[in-house]
Amino acid sequence: MSTIEFLVQNEEERREIVEMARDFAQTEIAPTAAERDRTKAPPTEEFAKLGELGFFGMLIPEAYEGLGFDTLTYLMVIEELAAADASVAITISVHNSLPVAMLLAHGSDEQKQHWLPRMARGEAIAAFCLSEADAGSDAARLRAQAERDGSEWMLNGTKSWVSHGDCAGLLVVMARTDTQDARRGPKGISAFLVPGGAAGVEVGKAEDKMGLRSSQTVSINLSSVKLGPESLLGAEGSGFIYAMQALDQGRLGVAAQAVGIARAALEHSLRYSAERKQFDTPIKDFQAIQFKLADMATRVAAGRALMYEAARQKDTGRDVTELAGMAKLYGSEMAMWVTTQAVQIFGGYGYMRDYPVERLFRDAKVTEIYEGTSEIQRIVIGRGLHTE
Ligand SMILES: Cc1cc2nc3c(=O)[nH]c(=O)nc-3n(C[C@H](O)[C@H](O)[C@H](O)COP(=O)(O)OP(=O)(O)OC[C@H]3O[C@@H](n4cnc5c(N)ncnc54)[C@H](O)[C@@H]3O)c2cc1C
Repeated sequence: MSTIEFLVQNEEERREIVEMARDFAQTEIAPTAAERDRTKAPPTEEFAKLGELGFFGMLIPEAYEGLGFDTLTYLMVIEELAAADASVAITISVHNSLPVAMLLAHGSDEQKQHWLPRMARGEAIAAFCLSEADAGSDAARLRAQAERDGSEWMLNGTKSWVSHGDCAGLLVVMARTDTQDARRGPKGISAFLVPGGAAGVEVGKAEDKMGLRSSQTVSINLSSVKLGPESLLGAEGSGFIYAMQALDQGRLGVAAQAVGIARAALEHSLRYSAERKQFDTPIKDFQAIQFKLADMATRVAAGRALMYEAARQKDTGRDVTELAGMAKLYGSEMAMWVTTQAVQIFGGYGYMRDYPVERLFRDAKVTEIYEGTSEIQRIVIGRGLHTE
């Protein structure tokens, strides 16, 4: 793997960046989040503004027009975006954590020069195309195929549940290049850089989801897509490994998203419990509610601490596969628990779409599912324990 140089932010710089992200998220993203959730409208304007701020290039080095943030600063910004709207945060997270990471680690100079500045400016939002209808947790069973055609490749297959696949300028597609591999295992899988508008790329209709409703989750049909040799990322047959390596960072992005959702639920609960009176008493003064708030605050802090620890270790160059799995596992289950308590604190109003905790509760659920379910995280963590 090539060496990647990140600017490591000092504390003061990091604080300013995170404050700016919080101001932006709360003034430009949060006020319209409920409406987008209701209408399922994609956050197109928000993406444009995030592009202007450079947030699509948070993990891209300055040499490629990115901001060159370290992992910790990046995750703190994702938390801010997720606290405002998890549907926006997931695009920034997937784009930076997965395609950007794969290109930085395995792209040729030409590929980096071609894609990274466009990606940093938000002109080419990048999607990650691994899952298929019959290959989710067991992604190595994917069936999309890339066949050699002289010096070119011909790509066929269908990818499922591609986040922001509707507007992606770049699709990083994992496809089988070793069609002789009868076991359909990971070794015959390669990664391809497919321009979003390439002939033969067809975007399916957006899924109607429980949460994250304004993030467009689509299928991508690849029908005889012709690709030049420059589209192969890294070594033939290594695409599955690249995708798994990138998922360590992706899982940290999901952990940050989960912490952001949970923090927002806690903040809404603190405000509401101070305003809402029953028995002539603000409900926050009932010990049952105080204890709930105390447990929520404690778990949010614990989720954040685990994510920070993983980020710090990643920034010192350590392998964080298990730690990233722990941060995602704990963070996502914490977010589900905290948002459930928030709905309870809001009582009947918590069950209504007019109040924000209902959306946060729905948005939290997916963090336990994508980029490796909680069951898969436990497998990853458990495996690591026995190899230490
Ligand atoms: C909103 C959304 C956005 C997504 N975005 C993307 C994207 O951008 N790109 C992409 O490639 N994919 C994306 N996905 C797909 C996502 O990564 C998969 O849904 C996830 O990996 C789980 O796969 P699956 O849905 O096929 O579930 P399955 O693998 O069928 O799992 C079903 C259940 O079985 C359990 N299970 C499976 N195997 C085991 C095992 N060995 N031991 C114990 N339990 C097991 C699972 O934990 C789960 O509870 C997205 C999904 C959603 C919902």
